[in-house]
Amino acid sequence: MIGEQIQKLTEDLPQDVTLVAVSKTKPNSAIEEAYSVGHRDFGENKVQELCQKAEELPNDIRWHMIGHLQRNKVKYIAPFVHLIHGVDSERLLTEINKQGAKNNRVIDVLIQLHIAEESSKFGFSYEEAEALFTNQNQFPNVRIVGLMGMATFTEDKTHIKREFETLSTFYNTWKAQKDLSVLSMGMSNDYPIAIASGSNMIRVGSLIFGRRN
Ligand SMILES: *Cc1c(COP(=O)(O)O)cnc(C)c1O
Repeated sequence: MIGEQIQKLTEDLPQDVTLVAVSKTKPNSAIEEAYSVGHRDFGENKVQELCQKAEELPNDIRWHMIGHLQRNKVKYIAPFVHLIHGVDSERLLTEINKQGAKNNRVIDVLIQLHIAEESSKFGFSYEEAEALFTNQNQFPNVRIVGLMGMATFTEDKTHIKREFETLSTFYNTWKAQKDLSVLSMGMSNDYPIAIASGSNMIRVGSLIFGRRN
């Protein structure tokens, strides 16, 4: 089931769109099913769960940290994480840089922009992100490869589209100058709108693995 679902989803995606299969709360067996049809990009939002799965599952899996990340937990994922999606403060970036240096690696990250009109979502404003890009050389062990955003949780497609297009506009403005290549937006219920708005990385969980409890 999971294998078929992921193949079907992948076939329908444009070539340049990367699918991150969000496996949070799901057992290793579910990930193994996706892995067995060739899938390698998986996303988790809890550090402890991510580390445990990474230890138990094949080491060619590319692990994406997709949720809000606490600074004191960066050290646990720094040795192996493939991409950190939700960098939402300069203090977090500073810590990732420090742990990158300790592990002798440059860690790829996405800057989370606050695009949702609802107030609860994490992220930088446009101006804050701009300032961060300007100070990028302070973080030699971090590579900012793109942007990430989450739309408001709503049924209103026009609203979602507007938020995704806002993020896409920032991305296109900065892409060449800041050497960005990843625009991470879109989840199970809004990924077609995200792709239509220019996303090239979607984070899909429930549509692949079924509902979470
Ligand atoms: C859980 C989660 C997803 C996936 O959500 P689904 O609706 O199950 O596709 C995507 N992005 C983030 C940041 C998440 O926490």
